[in-house]
Amino acid sequence: MKKSLLITFALISGLSCSAQAQQSQNVQADAARIKAHLTFLADDLLEGRDTGSRGHEIAALYIASQFAQLGLTPAGDNGTYMQRVPLRQSHLVQSSPKLTLAGPEGQISLSYPKDYITSGSVAFSLAHLQGEMVFAGYGIVAPELGHDDYAGLDVKGKVVVLLSGKPESFPSEEGAHFGSGSEKSRHAIANGAIGMITISTPLAEKVRPYQTLLNYLHTPKMRWLDKSGNPHEAFPELLNDAYFSQDAAAKLFADAPMSLKDIYAQLEKGNTPKGFALKTRIDFTKQSEHENISSPNVAAILEGSDPVFKNEYVVFSAHSDHIGFAKTVLKDKINNGAMDNATGTSVLLETARLFAELPMRPKRSILFVAVTGEEKGLLGADYFAQQPTVPLNAMVANVNLDMPILTFESADVIAFGANHSSLQQTVSEAAKAAGLSLSPDPWPEQALFTRSDHYMFVKQGIPSVFLVPGLKSMDPNVDGAKKFGEFIQKHYHKPSDELNDSFNWQAAKRFAEVNFQIGLSLADDNKRPTWNEDDFFGRAFSK
Ligand SMILES: [Zn+2]
Repeated sequence: MKKSLLITFALISGLSCSAQAQQSQNVQADAARIKAHLTFLADDLLEGRDTGSRGHEIAALYIASQFAQLGLTPAGDNGTYMQRVPLRQSHLVQSSPKLTLAGPEGQISLSYPKDYITSGSVAFSLAHLQGEMVFAGYGIVAPELGHDDYAGLDVKGKVVVLLSGKPESFPSEEGAHFGSGSEKSRHAIANGAIGMITISTPLAEKVRPYQTLLNYLHTPKMRWLDKSGNPHEAFPELLNDAYFSQDAAAKLFADAPMSLKDIYAQLEKGNTPKGFALKTRIDFTKQSEHENISSPNVAAILEGSDPVFKNEYVVFSAHSDHIGFAKTVLKDKINNGAMDNATGTSVLLETARLFAELPMRPKRSILFVAVTGEEKGLLGADYFAQQPTVPLNAMVANVNLDMPILTFESADVIAFGANHSSLQQTVSEAAKAAGLSLSPDPWPEQALFTRSDHYMFVKQGIPSVFLVPGLKSMDPNVDGAKKFGEFIQKHYHKPSDELNDSFNWQAAKRFAEVNFQIGLSLADDNKRPTWNEDDFFGRAFSK
């Protein structure tokens, strides 16, 4: 009775906003519930929740069960909470890669993985590439930035040799888009190339040393399968690909117009050298073992209260998968992924509870989706965003939760991507209401905006934000930045990312509350979020 009275009052007086504001002020997240979810999701029994594993299936079932307990409507396949994502998993046969170069210095065999690394091919079980090679700068075509590495270059039927990454002069987020593997593959194919060799650079060595890439040799490559069973973004026109160490890369440039050293010197000066044909040919084979599997996204809806607005959705996402077992001789081999991303998933579940228990539901519907395959390349989010279980244009915004570091109480939040849309305003107000400030991105060079699940929604034109607790500490005796750095250096993607005393449950509670506030104001605002005028991502992806 109280609820309907409130709604009637709101409708008559047009005071729904203040009524809503009033009810939102009383909403308190429950730290004990977040801890309970996390305790389950990060348990050894779930074996690190690897995509496609039994442990991850159990995590998904747990999430679905929580959604059901909250009375949310299933938003997966066929009236269930699960959206099964069909996947192809490709394991490289580690003994199989054979790569020889033939050129002015005769025949040279390179050894895997000392000289180069490569992953399983999702397109071919036996991949064979041979041909002439052409150096093509970064392999980037970015008319918006006046850059075209293929201008005046003939790579038809040839293998392109590309610098890793992007020019340092590029703005970081746009640059991350243009410098991504999928964009480079697309442009290589558009120019007729048949294979792609990426070479390390001094900058790449600083950011991701060749040596650390060796940790991922055994990680299978995965792609989702479309309705015809074809792997998405498999790029079968490119017959084979590899990443060369600096030493190995130097051998490609024997007798070439420029040596690799000259090229690196140009990069140092901020120039991208123009491409040229190489005198070295490549012959490169490898074998991969394929397995088709599936793994669930878990989706649920809290229906909105407005007869019209309820057909639009504010989407909350968090990835439920992690990386499974570690290849280590240590006794504890399970990567529990407590922070990555049992935290985000637990906060998503608590946020769902806060919405479900509101006396007055928001106008728009809220869609909660725990996505799979994030660690394998944002696969579950990409699949959901491309094959959503609600109409694409009905999704007005995405709020993503990924690895909030909850080892201290932050006095601020960072909102990756908010600056591209009207979400900046929403997030800033919600943070303020929760007693937090909104800080600018402290790591712009990392382009984190393009590196978690929300970016797959961005690529479908949906304004999105990826919120994390900031580096400012509430407690003057705690150095937030140091705490943050400690987690990244010591525990990120390691078995020691597990539930322990370092978790600050007050931080978890506050983080759930601020996410709830953001969702609430997005769901109640009569205007849907919009991209900023002339925003690069808005222009590139708006439908
Ligand atoms: Zn991760």
